[in-house]
Amino acid sequence: MNKTETVENKLTDLKKTLAYYETFSCVQCGYCLPACPTYQTMGKETHSPRGRINLVKMTAEGKLTNLNLLADSIDKCLGCRACETACPTGVRYGKIYESAKSLLHLREEESSPSKGWKNILLHSVIPNKKRLNRLANFVWFYQKSGLQKIARHSGFLRLLPNHLGEFEALLPTLPSPVERAKRPVRFPAQGKPKYRVAFFTGCVMDAIFEKINRLSMQLLQKAGCEVVMIEGETCCGALHAHTGDLETAKQLAKQNITAFEQAANREPLDFIVNNAGGCGAMLIEYDHLFRGDPEWEPRARTFVEKTRDISQVLTMTGPLPIVKQTNQKKEVVTYQRSCHMTNVQKVTKEPLQLIRSIPGIELREMENPDKCCGSAGIYNIVNYNESMDILDDKMSTVKNTGATTIITTNPGCLLQMKMGIIREGLQDKVRAVHLVELLAEACGIEI
Ligand code: SF4
Ligand code: SF4
Repeated sequence: MNKTETVENKLTDLKKTLAYYETFSCVQCGYCLPACPTYQTMGKETHSPRGRINLVKMTAEGKLTNLNLLADSIDKCLGCRACETACPTGVRYGKIYESAKSLLHLREEESSPSKGWKNILLHSVIPNKKRLNRLANFVWFYQKSGLQKIARHSGFLRLLPNHLGEFEALLPTLPSPVERAKRPVRFPAQGKPKYRVAFFTGCVMDAIFEKINRLSMQLLQKAGCEVVMIEGETCCGALHAHTGDLETAKQLAKQNITAFEQAANREPLDFIVNNAGGCGAMLIEYDHLFRGDPEWEPRARTFVEKTRDISQVLTMTGPLPIVKQTNQKKEVVTYQRSCHMTNVQKVTKEPLQLIRSIPGIELREMENPDKCCGSAGIYNIVNYNESMDILDDKMSTVKNTGATTIITTNPGCLLQMKMGIIREGLQDKVRAVHLVELLAEACGIEI
């Protein structure tokens, strides 16, 4: 069967393509509605978890034939999976959502196998470390050469589509190509070695937030871990899975599983550590991606069993060697949880424990701390207005805490919080940091 026939079959056999039988677990109770950010801001049943499940069911049964109605509802979903955590009957909304995204992706592929910016980014840049590095080096040149100043003052950035000019203001200062190339591939443990860990550098995380990756490795090192980098690893596939391209997500997952297997054959590895809530959620669901596949499901399960968020490992290694003085002025902080870390990885206590272990820090929780900030992969770019409505709600709860530091555990949330700070005009009063940056500061690590 050729590719076109396979796509046609999938578009016809909707009960199979969509997670139809999963939809029966929903008893329509509505307990998930208060947890859903899009229902709360848009106020429409079709933009609630219950409404979306119904639309998927109706599409699978052939009762809804206009796929544009399904697309309008599903494309506005953040995929934050707060509804899963709120659901008393254990509906696996993630499966239903993913199946609908996959159907919509197939339809898009069939009608216009376009090579727009999204396609180029997802298929030609993100999975390719060399191209990502070249892009990062170009951004470094843009920042250092004065081009950035010209672009900002000339008004050119305002001409960019999808509000990309506003996102440009959020970019951190990138390391030079020389600094990037000098990063060691192995960080020996300091003090008594406790674990040997493989560090999952990711794609965007390593290109744009390389400093946070480097701080993560140095923190792990200080905590007694030997850290090794893995040749051949690639993007986790989360962005592809969330846009419905499960085939590419599987290819990337296979590449990662293979790379880590080869590394584990050379020397024993205790954990595979990541520092991005969204990537970690994808990595720990690799076994779901290959369900029923006799070769890849067991290999994926071994990978999943080793996967940990950095906060989990740093709480296992014992107290961090903190050097921050307690007589410094008290810093009020608040913690914006990553949805995928909370609702998929279920890592909730460890970041709080680490924040509370820093002297001179007062943690003030915001109202609804579990609610998504509206970042959600590239949701804030493709659904800018909806995302900003969700962000504005989030920022009002942040402001009520009086915090001067917002802590996050995911690159997308970090950029979104920076955007929120700019929208509120708080640039001189509030900063947004990754948890790793805060811990590194407390341990006196500087790069
Ligand atoms: S998804 Fe769960 S909480 Fe939401 S309506 Fe269905 S059963 Fe109720
Ligand atoms: S994943 Fe998030 S945005 Fe989507 S339906 Fe569930 S709670 Fe709402």
